[in-house]
Amino acid sequence: NMTAIPISLLLFLLYHILERERQELEFLVRTDTLTGLANRRTFMTKLEEECHRHARSQRPLSLMMCDVDHFKKVNDTWGHPAGDAVLAYLGQIMAASTREAIDVAARFGGEEFVILFPETDLHQARYFAEQINAQLREHQFEVEGKKFSVTQSVGIAQVNDGNGELALRVADENLYRAKNNGRNQTVGSVVSPLLESGKEPDGPRD
Ligand code: GH3
Ligand code: MG
Ligand code: MG
Repeated sequence: NMTAIPISLLLFLLYHILERERQELEFLVRTDTLTGLANRRTFMTKLEEECHRHARSQRPLSLMMCDVDHFKKVNDTWGHPAGDAVLAYLGQIMAASTREAIDVAARFGGEEFVILFPETDLHQARYFAEQINAQLREHQFEVEGKKFSVTQSVGIAQVNDGNGELALRVADENLYRAKNNGRNQTVGSVVSPLLESGKEPDGPRD
């Protein structure tokens, strides 16, 4: 059959073109365009996965939430493109300072970033956070020959009992504390479900 070969070849090519398109779209849906990091949706999926793993393995799991200090002023003083450059640079630092295929660094929204650290306790997470903060603090950005630098505030939480949503809330509260304490710093705590829910312990469980 003379026509059978060209048709199967056509289908083969078509399949590969569509498959490549599908992969590109999947990448776009998972990624933040400006920084190249994971987006909020991807982060939430990973958080749930890692929480399940943590609940089974009882291995530590931590996360950090960061927010650039006085970012509105950066935009106002140096222009929106300079603000974008700060975010892109922060994305680079985070990608370079995290373990590939283990940690999940994501842009959570605006000038807020989160990183999930599997197999990591509060103490180690604080160390990672300080490394990132130092790199950002020491970097000189430049607009029309004028130099400026930026800082960020960080809240850390160590997941307890596999409750990722709660850990995220505690990290956010710690970030708020870091801001109130004068910014450019890291505040962390291990999540305590009983304390956080505001309930008193209801006696021994078993
Ligand atoms: P704080 O230290 O309390 O965090 O002060 P702040 O000025 O950083 O906080 P605020 O939330 O008031 O400002 C965040 C600003 O971030 C406002 C918004 O215009 C800016 N922003 C959000 N997304 C982007 C972005 O993609 N690019 C740029 N250039 N700016 C952004
Ligand atoms: Mg903010
Ligand atoms: Mg801010």
